[in-house]
Amino acid sequence: MTKIGLEIHCQLTKLESKLFCSCKADYREFEPNTNICPVCMGIPGSLPLLNKSAVEKATLIAMALDCNTPTKIAFFRKNYFYPDLPKNFQITQLNVYGNTSIGWEGKISVGDKKIRIRRIQLEEDPGRLIYEGATEKTKLTLVDYNRAGTPLVEIVTEPDFETPHQVREFLNILSDLLENLNVSDPGLEGAMRADANVSIEGGSKVEIKNIGSFHDLEKAVHFEITRQQSLAERKIEIVQETRHWDDGRKITVSARTKEEEAEYRYHLEADIPWVRINDHTRNQLQTHMPESISSKKERYVSKHGITPQVADILSSNRYFSELFENAKNETNAKDIANMITTDIMGLLDTREKREMSKLEGDHISDLVEYVKSNKITRASAKLALDEVIKNGKQLSEIIEDLDLGHVSDEGELSDIISQVLTEEIKAVEEAKQNPEIVNFLVGKVMQKTRGKADPELTLSLLKKHLGID
Ligand SMILES: [Zn+2]
Repeated sequence: MTKIGLEIHCQLTKLESKLFCSCKADYREFEPNTNICPVCMGIPGSLPLLNKSAVEKATLIAMALDCNTPTKIAFFRKNYFYPDLPKNFQITQLNVYGNTSIGWEGKISVGDKKIRIRRIQLEEDPGRLIYEGATEKTKLTLVDYNRAGTPLVEIVTEPDFETPHQVREFLNILSDLLENLNVSDPGLEGAMRADANVSIEGGSKVEIKNIGSFHDLEKAVHFEITRQQSLAERKIEIVQETRHWDDGRKITVSARTKEEEAEYRYHLEADIPWVRINDHTRNQLQTHMPESISSKKERYVSKHGITPQVADILSSNRYFSELFENAKNETNAKDIANMITTDIMGLLDTREKREMSKLEGDHISDLVEYVKSNKITRASAKLALDEVIKNGKQLSEIIEDLDLGHVSDEGELSDIISQVLTEEIKAVEEAKQNPEIVNFLVGKVMQKTRGKADPELTLSLLKKHLGID
């Protein structure tokens, strides 16, 4: 039997400052080594001060994952030497004096399967090493400490996964959940990284380290299972070790033999007192917890009559579900949801586009109302959407500016049809035998009116002109 467990590192990207100092948590905008201070650089004599919001956001994650949460949390030093770690230790958590980490014994459903969460801990991210050229040949390694000390939540699962596909599903669900809680933006580069441990038939555990994309993680786990199966078939011993995912060659490669936990010489971080989390704080957090994705989905179906498939897509994305919630959705909820999932998701398919967009919920409800009351066609609605996203103007103004108003005046439409009929003599001949050609002529009228002609009226007028019914 295959057993796969995960350790997911998730940055709390929505915080202002690092975990123990006032440097910025958003390190990405800085020149290398400019977002640093004596605390995150571990200069002797400097003292850490715990970021309260980080504890709250991490606790929200623990609650959302159904974990037990502690009455007191403690921090530990994990000692090791590595160039990305300026202090030579990382401040993290460890459940040795009782459960003092942010959360433990939680669970999350992946389809019909329950994945157990062993532990959630709050810790600091190390700096970043930048290799010039290929990792194995490089002569120069640069280090950037801007990231050192930024808040990280580590989520450790039990080895409950049996297939790479389950791993992928779990990560998608987890990433939607974190985004929905507004604690992290998993789309940011490096915001979510994972280690996986894989064993087959009760054999040794092999750990695959630090994979930044879900797609690669799924592949790496798949490769590792196949590698171990092939060793087992040939009766070759599987060694307990750490391996890296080589993205270029799409294989895992041996990195070093697995360190034992004891080698880190954990000890209590004496510079940070134990922190009590009282019932009041816990209740406050619970009360202000954003509505869960599954509850949103249920509400969209039962209250708004949206189909389960559309509700599923809409509820699992924080940005688009907010657009829906902000639209005037007491009436037309179904059409609003459809417009978001069919048109708008495609138009705003990247973070950059969403950030630049001027589209508000009200625009969407207005647009749906305009289409329903026949003031504009579906085709014009798309043009209007493009424009609203660019400039955020009122819909009425855009329809005026772009002259998108519906052409439903018989006289006006008849003139256009006559024009089309004189231009398309061949099609007119054929249309009398083959009714499908009529659709071609409708298309021509649409072209001339830039999609503004009322389709039903156009069709009936065309038939009249052609003398068919
Ligand atoms: Zn700092």
